[in-house]
Amino acid sequence: MLDFNLSPELLDLRQKAREFARNELLPIAWQYDQRDEYPRDIIAKADAAGLANVGIPKEHGGMGYGYLEGVILTEEFAAACPGLATSLFDNSLGMEPLILCANASLKTKYLSRILNEGKHIAFATSEPTMGSDVAGMRCTAKRDGEGYILNGTKYWVTNGGVADYISIFATVDPEKAHEGICAFVVEKAWDGVRAGRPIPKLGQRTSNTTAINLKNVRVPEENMMASPGEGFVLAMQTFARTRAAIGAFAVGTARSAMEFAIDYTKKRRAFGSKIGNFQAIQFKIAEMYQKIETSRLLVWKAAWEADKGLDPNISASVAKMYATEAAFEVVDEALQIMGGYGYTRFFPAEKLLRDARLFRVYEGTSEIQRIILAGHAMNSYQPVMPPLENLALENLSDRSGTATDEPGGAAWRCRICGYVHLGEEKPEECPYCFFPSEAFKKVDVAQTFDKKKE
Ligand SMILES: Cc1cc2nc3c(=O)[nH]c(=O)nc-3n(C[C@H](O)[C@H](O)[C@H](O)COP(=O)(O)OP(=O)(O)OC[C@H]3O[C@@H](n4cnc5c(N)ncnc54)[C@H](O)[C@@H]3O)c2cc1C
Repeated sequence: MLDFNLSPELLDLRQKAREFARNELLPIAWQYDQRDEYPRDIIAKADAAGLANVGIPKEHGGMGYGYLEGVILTEEFAAACPGLATSLFDNSLGMEPLILCANASLKTKYLSRILNEGKHIAFATSEPTMGSDVAGMRCTAKRDGEGYILNGTKYWVTNGGVADYISIFATVDPEKAHEGICAFVVEKAWDGVRAGRPIPKLGQRTSNTTAINLKNVRVPEENMMASPGEGFVLAMQTFARTRAAIGAFAVGTARSAMEFAIDYTKKRRAFGSKIGNFQAIQFKIAEMYQKIETSRLLVWKAAWEADKGLDPNISASVAKMYATEAAFEVVDEALQIMGGYGYTRFFPAEKLLRDARLFRVYEGTSEIQRIILAGHAMNSYQPVMPPLENLALENLSDRSGTATDEPGGAAWRCRICGYVHLGEEKPEECPYCFFPSEAFKKVDVAQTFDKKKE
């Protein structure tokens, strides 16, 4: 049974998030963006409002919200400021491998600190020399007595400068590729851990992004989330659950861009009319609306699958790829509708455009989503239609030019052009493409006729 209605509880949660986004995030977004600064207290405010860290399981004292709640909150935050939404969501990203891992005492220790002491946790797979190729990481974890020694640099760590803990992925041996990867919770305060300067960015400037350098950092065994070989799987399981949220960022951002654009079309005049009266402008709005609705459904589906305990990997890739690409198109059209003013910093489209551009890069680029989806569609997806060569038999009488209702007998199909020849012997050459008899493959006519009868 399928139901697209949000429950009264979800509607309340969405309303609460909407009010928080309008009252707390929107008023500060542009000034922090211009200053290239992250408002440090924003997570604490969201936390106090019951809108952050919502995914901490109930057995660890949290609210135990699902992924659907997460994407609903995220859409609202991103509608006010995509950068602040990234900052708020980052705790969920940093926590996800901890929640998914099997180390119960580690969860108890750190989830309760995040919940009760307002601690921040970041997530780090990427490095200066790799991002997409997670198995190619070089940050090393060497066994040393009861623990591990970490060396290397993680890059692009969202909240790297403000987080108290980091979910660090490292390798016991770079030569082992994905089989060498393990994961740890590392405390920023430990000896040898340093955060770099905030990386200056095109957009999402209200989020903090830094490197994390690890120099002979001693990590006790009890801080291990995934042992060597399991870390890669843990990272992929994390992305499969968090990519829907990137889609939700895109939905919220696109929604605001569309709303601002609609507002503008009702006020701006050209050629003696409000521009909203021009059908060319109305069609742009229609396309924006269609893309936003489609994106939201895909995001909700991926989140729903994760909540149901299904593998959300493919749906999350579809949602992330579609929604993030659609959002950029929507924001770009919103800017176009605002004409020259859209290109200025007095109007919101330029910030949304800069912010939205990141969605296609982090948590797996659009190219990586295409690799995942192509792999699935071409190797794992179960087709409903018969293979092409059998399809030719379904239309046997038309294709052969020798109409027959009789089952049985031999038939030969030209592998090149698809022509089907009826008869015990294959022809010397194909009468259509002139390939010689070797191009013909015997096909089972009886089986096809039997299937047709079923
Ligand atoms: C603002 C920001 C915040 C981030 N936050 C985090 C974070 O919190 N934690 C974290 O771990 N990482 C984070 N990242 C890193 C992000 O996930 C990576 O930037 C992203 O995965 C791409 O990696 P890369 O930049 O190394 O590009 P590369 O992997 O070097 O790729 C470069 C280009 O080549 C393409 N490409 C790569 N391989 C293939 C292939 N096989 N086929 C076709 N095309 C390919 C890519 O799609 C891309 O277009 C963040 C990045 C940014 C910009």
